[in-house]
Amino acid sequence: MKKHALVVGLGFAGAVLARSLADAGFSVTAFDKRPSIAGNMYEYERSNGVRVHMYGPHIFHTDLKHVYAYLSTFSSFYPYSHRVLGMIDGVLVPIPYNFTSIEKHFSSARAKSIIAKLTSHYPLNSRVPVSDLLRHPDPEIAGLGQFVFEKVFKNYTAKQWGVPADSLDPAVLRRVPVVIGDDDRYFSDSIQMMPLMGYTELFENILKHPNISIQLNSNALQRIHPHSVSGKFLLDGVPFEGPICYTGSVDELFDYVLGALPYRSLELCMEDHAIDLFQSASVVNYPNDESFTRITEFKHMTLQDVPGATTIMKEYPMAYHPGGRLCPFYPIQSDENQNLYRDYLEICGKFEDLFLCGRLAEYKYYNMDAVVDQALSVAAQIRESQRYE
Ligand SMILES: Cc1cc2nc3c(=O)[nH]c(=O)nc-3n(C[C@H](O)[C@H](O)[C@H](O)COP(=O)(O)OP(=O)(O)OC[C@H]3O[C@@H](n4cnc5c(N)ncnc54)[C@H](O)[C@@H]3O)c2cc1C
Repeated sequence: MKKHALVVGLGFAGAVLARSLADAGFSVTAFDKRPSIAGNMYEYERSNGVRVHMYGPHIFHTDLKHVYAYLSTFSSFYPYSHRVLGMIDGVLVPIPYNFTSIEKHFSSARAKSIIAKLTSHYPLNSRVPVSDLLRHPDPEIAGLGQFVFEKVFKNYTAKQWGVPADSLDPAVLRRVPVVIGDDDRYFSDSIQMMPLMGYTELFENILKHPNISIQLNSNALQRIHPHSVSGKFLLDGVPFEGPICYTGSVDELFDYVLGALPYRSLELCMEDHAIDLFQSASVVNYPNDESFTRITEFKHMTLQDVPGATTIMKEYPMAYHPGGRLCPFYPIQSDENQNLYRDYLEICGKFEDLFLCGRLAEYKYYNMDAVVDQALSVAAQIRESQRYE
């Protein structure tokens, strides 16, 4: 048996690290302060029989074949192409905005003209950033860019981040595409799948290992403390000699000594309805008129056959306050916040056994596939380190 390793947090970062280190012979103690494993991917069945994602809808999409191959050793997956509609000017249109959306919003002659111009300027099925359309010399193409910016993007993003619409960084627009064609899939990745029995079972299988001991409802920071004089962490007051894989917020780890790293959060409101289906797609975005940003209906994703019952979730963007009841969901990207994070990294650098991984610990908006990829490389780094032989 190799040394003892500690893992803090059991989302994808922590679970993959725990499993990889357990496979390499480490004895792993893993903590999560929540009552459940699976971090933000936690999925459960409600009393009406509908499976839901407690912390918001999670769709697995990736171009990283090795990540999908790794996860496939713990669960079967089914193909799932995510489709999103937007309620815009009282009409439901595909998002990303595509030729069908154009046909629904503009007169037939105008739509034909815009589509003909788009087709002559861009390759079919390409995804063109709205920022490119806005700069286009043809006024009809630039006008479409302006329409999409105003109706699809501006208010949604302002709501999401809690900032005035005109203060939005135009650079963000580079990530908002218009599809040159009728492809109405939300993502364009080569792999778009969902775990057959849900995320929680996938996590149970990842964590099923004799070398892993799990402690739920357990805030690791009540047991693990940084001791800056020795550069070691103390576990229950005793210096700990093995690797500490930390996937929580780095400001919390050091008791907010430099101040809190800002996050944006969501109030997630579930509603059960005694009907077959509430809406015609997994997700409907409400960019403009409502205080929520989107409604998810989980049955479209889980493909469950539960007649006469469905569950939806409304998302209300909110400020995050450390210690409050909401979760730190989205790191707020700014130079100032990155500088603060870098200052925390300087403190972390004094602790040779500390390994940061994941969305909170790296203060980075990561999709699930990128977190799994990162966790696999951090685990390889620990396994190969002579320090833990
Ligand atoms: C609303 C929403 C929707 C999303 N949808 C998608 C999607 O469709 N597709 C996609 O690829 N990605 C999606 N993501 C991103 C995805 O959630 C992240 O990639 C993923 O959660 C990262 O995993 P993680 O392990 O880094 O963090 P988390 O899943 O947040 O796990 C961290 C865990 O650490 C625990 N923890 C923290 N501090 C402590 C402590 N002191 N002691 C014990 N435990 C602690 C927390 O309780 C938590 O369980 C979405 C994110 C949000 C917010």
